[in-house]
Amino acid sequence: MGDGDNAISRTELRAQLGALGVGGGVLLVHTSFRSIRPVEDGPLGLIAALRDALGPAGTLVMPSWSGNDDEPFAPETTPASPDLGIVADLFWRQPGVERSEHFHAFAAIGPEAKRVTSGPLPLPPHGPDSPVGRVLELDGQVLLLGVGHDADTILHLAELFAGVPYRVPRYCTVLTDGRAVRVEYGENDHCCGRFALADEWLRSRGLQSEGRVGHAHARLARARDIVDVAVEHLARDPLLFLHSPEAACAECDEARRSTQS
Ligand SMILES: [Zn+2]
Repeated sequence: MGDGDNAISRTELRAQLGALGVGGGVLLVHTSFRSIRPVEDGPLGLIAALRDALGPAGTLVMPSWSGNDDEPFAPETTPASPDLGIVADLFWRQPGVERSEHFHAFAAIGPEAKRVTSGPLPLPPHGPDSPVGRVLELDGQVLLLGVGHDADTILHLAELFAGVPYRVPRYCTVLTDGRAVRVEYGENDHCCGRFALADEWLRSRGLQSEGRVGHAHARLARARDIVDVAVEHLARDPLLFLHSPEAACAECDEARRSTQS
């Protein structure tokens, strides 16, 4: 599908984003362009509309990790993981965009871009000293375009604040004195399907704005609110984000097993 007759113009995209509540500050965006398209000028038109809506004082942030744990990450050349979508992979390649120098990279443009993306490899990946930690610290917002909270990385930060007991073994490869070295760590990871619970938590308190952006359903919430509602629910049940054993979800089962060893 190209930018056909039902393509949403950049002006209209900007208006949709404004109506949703995008208007400055730090904005972390997760996208599925398949759901958003067609829009004027494609993925780059969407990026331009996001920057228009944020204005010069706003900082646009997107995930930018490679997902390739066997290769050292090079910020100038390593593609973003296909899981992150075409918008994220085009974003880091644009002039003026900062990108973290480590495997769990985010990319950003705007006044707070360096602050969000800088720092050493955070382990576990989405802790207080990671890019999502900076988004929270800067009272940023999270925008989900055509994706649900299952793609909402900042919920992993909430898990760490809540002290969830699961860690699954992960590794990445880093260059140390020109040599590729494998770094092993434990990550609070699972399938993330149950992150979708955040919808109801936020909606019931009027903390999530929803509407259409392009052709996609969009959700916007403060990072602080997302983290707070999740920490509150995890305090009652630390395994809340894991599928129950009856669901036979291999990833959630692995996380659950890690709490028993
Ligand atoms: Zn699961």
